[in-house]
Amino acid sequence: MQELTRGSTRTTLGIWMATLLAATTFTVALPAFAGMDDSWDWADDPATKKPKRKLTVFYDFDADKATLGDKKMKEVMDEAIDNWNKVKDDTGWEFVKGGTKDAHDLRIKVENIPRLTGGAMGDPSGIGKDRRLSQATITFDPAPREGFKWGVNDDKKVNPVRVAMHELTHPMRLAHQGELGTKSGKIKDPSDAVTAGDDVVTPSKDDKDEAKKISTAPINIKRAPPGGGGNVSLVVPAYPLELPVPVKTPNAELSIPGSALLNNIETTFSITSMYSMPSPFSTPAGVGRMIKGVHIGLTGLSGVPEIDPEGYFTVRIPYEDGVEGDGFLIELADPQFPRVDESLLRPFFFDSLSSTWRQVNPAALGGAYSLDTFNDIAQITLPTGMLGAFADPSDPLTRTLFISIAPVPEPSTMALLAVGLGVIGGIGRNRRRRQSA
Ligand SMILES: [Zn+2]
Repeated sequence: MQELTRGSTRTTLGIWMATLLAATTFTVALPAFAGMDDSWDWADDPATKKPKRKLTVFYDFDADKATLGDKKMKEVMDEAIDNWNKVKDDTGWEFVKGGTKDAHDLRIKVENIPRLTGGAMGDPSGIGKDRRLSQATITFDPAPREGFKWGVNDDKKVNPVRVAMHELTHPMRLAHQGELGTKSGKIKDPSDAVTAGDDVVTPSKDDKDEAKKISTAPINIKRAPPGGGGNVSLVVPAYPLELPVPVKTPNAELSIPGSALLNNIETTFSITSMYSMPSPFSTPAGVGRMIKGVHIGLTGLSGVPEIDPEGYFTVRIPYEDGVEGDGFLIELADPQFPRVDESLLRPFFFDSLSSTWRQVNPAALGGAYSLDTFNDIAQITLPTGMLGAFADPSDPLTRTLFISIAPVPEPSTMALLAVGLGVIGGIGRNRRRRQSA
């Protein structure tokens, strides 16, 4: 407990330092909260007509046989859920056991995950244009990798109850903030790399306060009404609420020429975190995970949206590159994942037909890609035809596009990998090159 208190104090000092440094260039409010993921929310609860805060959990594993280390998976989940439910009045969130295959919000599975570096992961499914989520799956790996062992009250082993509690923070709209949970005293921060001190399974005050605060926060999304030929230009904050570190470029941006939208179309724009994009680990060989991205929705208000494929649209996705050793590494050096080489960030899009992320080479489609590692921003220009390529799971009159950035392997191995133009390979390939505004 003492250690946790010291960790929090250091965090606060770090925030003060960051604030002072930031004050010379721009003004940002930096409260003590951090890492609250308002890039999505749950679908409405029919009982309350508000986003769900009581989540039904389906144990999709063999309750007699599934284990994590010496502990039965059922006990692990029961304890994790009970520990959160004990403080439900403080968090605003509740978990209900007993969900079924057909009726659940969260599905819990136990199976080997080949790509995983940690012990568990979550995956949202079917997130639609309104950034509402109806179901998510959390998978626990019984034997994740060499040197990683599940075990309770053992400083060399990973406490499965703590990990289960951690995974349950993501459905509570919480995200990593760039420190290890054993340092920050927050269960929502990962404990993967350091197992000493991870046997604390009581939510801290920060955990409860952050869960409560995000339980009432609206979704970070912008809409553009049909413009009658006017250009669409949308801007949203690019980071979770109250990020405890100054960033060089605070907003993500979308620009679509009005001439590309041929009928009555509403545009929606939001950012995606790893916890609010589809299948962030379904990536090409050599690419570990998607880092972050944007979600663009085009909804036809008087029928299927008609989009001129000859134009070009641009998105700007900023990222937090951190400073090694300062304890505030978020997107390129989340302590749960290997550090990312910033210069190798490239654009990807989600192909919902294969449920995988594919690398896209904008230049090959007549567009452009630039990476500004000083201002920490990736700018991607692509044919407007891509905006109409994928149906939205929530609405037949909506076309949806997820774009994300992720590091590709070093150039020497790149030659061995096929660049995935995939289903949109035909779009724009033979088109005259055109400068985007
Ligand atoms: Zn996590």
